[in-house]
Formats: sequence, structure tokens, C-alpha cells
Amino acid sequence: MSQLTEEENHYDYLVIGGGSGGIASAKRAASLYKAKVGVIEKSRLGGTCVNVGCVPKKVMFNAASLHEAFHDAKHYGFQGGEIVAESFNWNALKKSRDAYVKRLNGIYENGFKSSGVELIRGTASFVDENSLLVKSDDGSEKVLTAKYILIATGGRPSFPAGEGVAEHCISSDGFFELEERPNVAVIVGAGYIAVELAGVLNSLGTEVHLVIRKGHALRSFDEMIMTGLDEEMTKAGIFIHRNTNGVAKVTIDNGKKTVTTHSGDTIYGADVVLMAPGRVPNVDGLGLENARVLCTHRKYIQVDDKQNTTNPNIFALGDVCGKVELTPMAIAAGRRLADRIFGPEELADSKVSYENVPTVVFSHPPIGTIGLTQAEAIDKYGVENVRVYTSKFANLFYGIFDVEPDDKPKTRMKLICAGESEKVVGIHTMGLGVDEMMQGFGVAMKMGATKADFDSCVAIHPTASEELVTMGQWGKSPQISGAAHSPLNGAKASEPILKSKM
Ligand SMILES: Cc1cc2nc3c(=O)[nH]c(=O)nc-3n(C[C@H](O)[C@H](O)[C@H](O)COP(=O)(O)OP(=O)(O)OC[C@H]3O[C@@H](n4cnc5c(N)ncnc54)[C@H](O)[C@@H]3O)c2cc1C
Repeated sequence: MSQLTEEENHYDYLVIGGGSGGIASAKRAASLYKAKVGVIEKSRLGGTCVNVGCVPKKVMFNAASLHEAFHDAKHYGFQGGEIVAESFNWNALKKSRDAYVKRLNGIYENGFKSSGVELIRGTASFVDENSLLVKSDDGSEKVLTAKYILIATGGRPSFPAGEGVAEHCISSDGFFELEERPNVAVIVGAGYIAVELAGVLNSLGTEVHLVIRKGHALRSFDEMIMTGLDEEMTKAGIFIHRNTNGVAKVTIDNGKKTVTTHSGDTIYGADVVLMAPGRVPNVDGLGLENARVLCTHRKYIQVDDKQNTTNPNIFALGDVCGKVELTPMAIAAGRRLADRIFGPEELADSKVSYENVPTVVFSHPPIGTIGLTQAEAIDKYGVENVRVYTSKFANLFYGIFDVEPDDKPKTRMKLICAGESEKVVGIHTMGLGVDEMMQGFGVAMKMGATKADFDSCVAIHPTASEELVTMGQWGKSPQISGAAHSPLNGAKASEPILKSKM
């Protein structure tokens, strides 16, 4: 045990986990409210997002988008794009990506120094409700105490049971360790991480097999997104293995893997089998029982809407709580919590809202979504009170392409409105560029925008986003679609403006 004085060992706020949520809360408490704050981190600073999540994933998405652009360049009069695409060097990209992530680790560490947060390296577990045991890699141990403790330990990839699965498969963490581009990859999973990595690999030239338990990936998304992405992934050449009920067995022969599903489907010759069936919270070994902190039946930490756990001095947020598992959500929750604990009286009720959180899936093409799906809106408001506007068109970018109209990737948009006022309660989009257009629409929805508000906004032309503010404006007849009359891109007529019949 290290010999520090009791005072040196005591903090106002100890944070377990230096990821998105932990860093945000710690910095707020220390820099704005001058609390004595320590963050205990057992691995690389920045957590999942920086090291094995959003950041390296977006770098790979960018590489894949560039690869596509080089292929598409010939339609715009550039020659030799394919040759440039062929020159892609995965290993060189990995080296620059790793260096970038390392720089970010350093930036976070410097940010701690400038905001007065102490970084404590090691693995933390509860001794009691105010004390944490910190074990360092070098074997040393110390006990730190704090008035308040935040659990922001995030989550990790889960591996399903199955013969050979643990031995021969990698997770999304392992994806970021790949030194070379695999020629053939099997990706198992139906969530956003699975479709994102499938899109990246496919665009970069890997033969991709997506293995899903049921009929479609992204089943919790709006139906238009679920079926639309399926169509686009198939068109782009991804082999989708449906209704497999999961993987039964993975074997290896001469370095090549064979995947057998429960439904009897067999995929041969894989260089990589990537398991992305879901994630689990990091609660094992935390000693929560020593601090009277309870978990849900799925092992997430039980919290109320202000991030209170079942112990009044201990809080939890981010992926370890299992609600809206996204970086900005963890950051917002962390900041609000620091405001509430250490801020002035008027912030005593500070909490984050988990409603209408804009989300992007960096699939190919990308998806942007906010609010309720059509099915959820109908459940909530009743079918007679829901009005749905949809549009499907080829982005002007593809207009010039000398290919069959059906072969052009499609942009899909859906606006879900509720009640007499047609309040916008859901926006779902998929297509080139939608990832960069959703933030502003998120603000509008937060402000309670109605269809009339959307209509009153003059469109930016020619962009794909103009479709969202012109849907249904080109005529009153239910036979006429916004896209059909849009001057923007000669888009095909899409589904009519319809009152939902679901
Ligand atoms: C492949 C992938 C892509 C993603 N893409 C996006 C995206 O595009 N956009 C987005 O918003 N979100 C994305 N996410 C989700 C996002 O990364 C998480 O929601 C976010 O990182 C959660 O933050 P957190 O603070 O809860 O936990 P984390 O960021 O996971 O941080 C937890 C930290 O706690 C540490 N820790 C755990 N246990 C202990 C312990 N006992 N002692 C000390 N330290 C401990 C861990 O080492 C880790 O550093 C992605 C995730 C993955 C896996």
C-alpha cells in the first residue's frame, strides 16, 4: 500500500473510468467548480470512443468513402480513379490512425492537467461506499476516499457461446488491430457496429458476409431504414445470411475460417470472423456489493433520471447504464451531473434529457435518425393521429452517372408527424450526406417544430436536405410526392404523401 496522508487520499469526486462520460464530468467539476477530482483509468485515456469506437471507426469510414469517390470520379471526367483506389494501403492507414489516436490520448491527458483533474492509473473497485481500492499494473495498491463517486466504466464487446467462437473470432476492438485488409470477412451481428464495419470493409474491397439472426439488420430502426439499408447493402455486394439464429461453430484450416450457423448455412474461406452481436456493461470486479449499488437484471447499473444509483453518494452514467449508448449522451450526462453536485443552487435539478437524441449510423450509405419510428409513433399517438411523409430519390451527385437509374444509390427520407398541429416526432434519413445534416433538424425537433415550421423554412438548393423541408409542398393530392416535383435533381417519384395505413 502506498503511504499518502489521509487528506492527500481524499477527494471531493472520484471518477472510475476515463472515457467520454467520466472525462466530461471530472473536467466540469474540477475546472468550473474547483472540486478536488481524481479519475481512475485502467487503460488508455479517452475510453471506447477515442480508442476503439467513434474516432477510429470514422477514420475507416472516411477511407471507405474516399475509396468509393475514386471509383466514382470517372463520371466527373477524372481518369485513373480506380488505379488510385487500388493503391490503398491498409497498414499505412492503420499507422496514421493509431498515431492520431495516440495524439488524442495525450490531448486528454493535457486537458486533465489544465483543468486540475488528477489522473490515477489503475483498476478501481469499491471497498465501501466512500472508498476505492486502486490496483496499478506494477502491482502497487492504494485506497482512495471521496465524498462522491461516479461509475463511468462503459461497456465491452460480448462474445456469444459457440464452438471455436472465442478462439477464432475477433470483436470490434480486434478490428482496429488488424494490420492488413482481410480478403474475406464474416461479420456476425445486426446492430449499428456490425453494419458500419460491414460497409467499411465492403467499400475497401473485402468480400463481406453479414450473418444475422433474423430477417434484417437494424431491426429497432424505422422500417424504411431497416429495409432500405438491406437493399443498399445487397446492391453494394454484401452477402447477407438471414435467419441463421446465430453462429454454431467456427473452425480453422490453413489460416482460413469456416463459419457454420445454427440454421446450417456454411461460409468458407474467411480471413476474419468479427463478432458484433452486442455489448455488455463493465461491472465485473467493481465490488458494487460493498457499496450497496444495485444492477438491473441485465447487469446495467440501476440509475434514475439524474444518474443517482441506489446509493445516494454514488452516481453512474454512460454505457454502463445501458441507455442511449452514445458518446455525446455520456458527455452531456456527465456535465449535467457535475453541475448538479457541485454547481450553484439553480442547477440543483440539472439532468440530461434522453429524448429526441439525433443519431447517425456510419453505414454505406449513412443513416440519420431522430425521435420515434413510425411504429412507435402509432403506438404512442394512435394511427389516426399520425401522418407520414416519405421520399426516395437519387442524390444529384449520382445524377450525372451513366448507369441505369435503378443502380444509383437512393436517398430515403421520412418525416413522422403527430396530432392536429403535425408536430414532427420522428425524422429518418438514409443516403449520401445525411450524416452531416441531422444536427440542425435535432435542434428543430427539440424546439417542438411542426410540419408547418419545416414548410416555412426556405430550402437550400441544390442539396439533399432541401427534401426534408419541401416534402409534400408540391401538391395536395395524395398521389403526388415531394420528390416527383422537386426541381432539385430530377428525382424519381417516390411513395405518395400518405396518411399511415399501418
Ligand atoms: C465500434 C464502436 C463505434 C462507436 N461509434 C460511435 C459513434 O460513432 N458515435 C457515438 O456517439 N458513439 C459511438 N460508440 C459508442 C461510444 O463509444 C460509447 O457510447 C462511449 O464511449 C461511452 O462512454 P462511457 O464514458 O460510458 O464509457 P467508455 O468510453 O467506454 O469509458 C469507460 C472507461 O472506463 C475504464 N474502466 C472500466 N472499468 C474500470 C475500472 N474498474 N477501473 C478503472 N477504469 C475502468 C475503461 O478502460 C474505459 O476507458 C461506438 C462504440 C463502438 C464500440
